[in-house]
Amino acid sequence: MSAPGRKAAITGHPVAHSRSPLIHGYWLKQLGIEGEYGRVDVAPETADAYYRAFSTSGLIGANVTVPHKETAAKACDWLDSAAKAMGAANTLWVDDRGRICGANTDGLGFLGNLDQLAPGWDQSAGTALVIGAGGAARAIVWALLSRKFTSVHIINRTAEKAQKIADEFGTGTFAHSWDELGTLLGKTDLLVNSTSLGMTGNPPLEIDLTNLRGDALVNDIVYAPLETDLLKAAAKRGNPVVDGIGMLLHQAVPGFERWFGVRPEVTDELRTLVLKDLGVTT
Ligand code: NAP
Repeated sequence: MSAPGRKAAITGHPVAHSRSPLIHGYWLKQLGIEGEYGRVDVAPETADAYYRAFSTSGLIGANVTVPHKETAAKACDWLDSAAKAMGAANTLWVDDRGRICGANTDGLGFLGNLDQLAPGWDQSAGTALVIGAGGAARAIVWALLSRKFTSVHIINRTAEKAQKIADEFGTGTFAHSWDELGTLLGKTDLLVNSTSLGMTGNPPLEIDLTNLRGDALVNDIVYAPLETDLLKAAAKRGNPVVDGIGMLLHQAVPGFERWFGVRPEVTDELRTLVLKDLGVTT
């Protein structure tokens, strides 16, 4: 298969650390596509102009990373429902009418990871507890509501941020204080850590899992380390667990498919490649 001249890139500031070129480069090679995927560092003071002129950038599409996801969304002529709900876009393309289009695939990445590693996880689509209320939490709440979870509870250190997400998403979303954690764990089908606690260099996420039901699925979106203390503790008591690296890999799938015309697969080989590059031991 060939697609000469088709070039996409990770855009943001900084972009040197991004693993997106590794992920997309792996798929281009694996699928024999003659495209390219590079890096474009967009200085904050030029970001608005850059994204507004994206259709003349020479790229067929781009990923957008911090701190430009909101700026990119504002520059788009069309947004998918996730990007609209989050006010942030991480995937751009130009459609055949010349419109700059934006999607937010973080929520899809979250879903793709659980679909792959815990098939059927959403069949009862009941109650979820999301710890954290940052950008990732917002994507996860969107994703859970898209799978018809009936109750999505949010707990965060800064209570106002949890409340803001619950207010924005409305029906089925509820903000709580930390002291309600124990009670909530008893009715949770899915527990997700979306804070940066537990990440190498950060304090651990210290929660008492005593009340968590034995069959509740536990997912940590932190992937360095891969097996966080939360996942270790949950696995030790017999709960099914899913780590976070797959979310990173699956969020890249829709962009690649749109730009290069083939839906790529998240393979064990890709997982290992990216973890090795991150210096994460499995
Ligand atoms: P963010 O917008 O900066 O949000 C950070 C969250 O962590 C907030 O809820 C914050 O609480 C909480 N937090 C930070 N330090 C804390 C502390 N000491 N005690 C209690 N809570 C604390 O970041 P984000 O984009 O949502 O990302 C959050 C984490 O998810 C990061 O580790 C990131 O690497 C990871 N992530 C993974 C993927 C993936 O693909 N697997 C995707 C996105 C993000 P406050 O609101 O109170 O500050």
